[in-house]
Amino acid sequence: MASSARAAKTTVATARAAKPATKPPGQRTGVKHEAVKHEAVKHDAVKHEAVKSDAVKQPRIKKVKPPATPLARTRRARQLATRLAQGYPDAHCELDFTTPLELAVATILSAQCTDVRVNMTTPAVFARFPSAADYAAAPRAELEELIKPTGFYRNKTNSLIGLGRALVERFDGEVPRTLAELVSLPGFGRKTSNVVLGNAFGIPGITVDTHMQRLVRRWGLTAQTDPVKIELELAAQLPPAQWTSFSNQVIFHGRRVCHAKRPACGACFLANLCPSLGAGTMDPVAASALVVGPEREHLLVLAGLGDVQGLPAAAPEQTELREPVE
Ligand code: SF4
Repeated sequence: MASSARAAKTTVATARAAKPATKPPGQRTGVKHEAVKHEAVKHDAVKHEAVKSDAVKQPRIKKVKPPATPLARTRRARQLATRLAQGYPDAHCELDFTTPLELAVATILSAQCTDVRVNMTTPAVFARFPSAADYAAAPRAELEELIKPTGFYRNKTNSLIGLGRALVERFDGEVPRTLAELVSLPGFGRKTSNVVLGNAFGIPGITVDTHMQRLVRRWGLTAQTDPVKIELELAAQLPPAQWTSFSNQVIFHGRRVCHAKRPACGACFLANLCPSLGAGTMDPVAASALVVGPEREHLLVLAGLGDVQGLPAAAPEQTELREPVE
């Protein structure tokens, strides 16, 4: 009996030992582990791709250390101003206007909107509201409808009606000629005020818009990020007679060559003065396709790319002068 029980135990043990373990626990865990690892690698690859695609979308922002001394910054600013004047001798405010009031209105409408769209909208506005008193008494719904294409039309309507009232009540219906008075008007900040001062009255003003902020930092003229501080630094670097023209030329360059996301470094006529050279493509053919505007051929010649016949036309998505939203 005892021996038969022992024999039975041995048979069971042998059978257990002989039974092939189809999925040994260790092996199962390993497979799972491999799968998890594989998934993780896949996930990392996706993440990497996402990072890569983000990198494509984002401009490469190289931190530029401004020259150590104010004198060195001033020298660079003046060299750039001289070169910019060669590139854009006819740079001007790209908003259409015939009077200071029209420029004031157009500048208010240009917030968060392209100059091209503002210029399409303003003829009807100027015809319907020729004076400050007309804006002061404007039927809100009618004005809103007229300026709707420029966006944020409710706020802009408030500013225009407020502007008309302020001009009538405090300035005899005329646009004032000083920075202090202009910034006191509804819808007017320093940027708008300097646009009007410089372009409607010929009184020097530095316009620190989105292009100016981006470019002067790329050039290392300032490390400031506050527009007022940037304006004051630039005012110390350049003679007042250059303030307005420099502002318009910088804005031209920002719209035509030194774009926010894809600066055309390989076709830029400021290359040897610019510490951010290389922020955009250095390939002359690719870069030249990013240069836009009526001055394109002239700009490419200045950049040393004289044989413009052999270069591609401006890239399709860059053919219309656009400005980034401010
Ligand atoms: S070299 Fe490049 S970063 Fe410098 S101004 Fe020209 S386009 Fe802009």
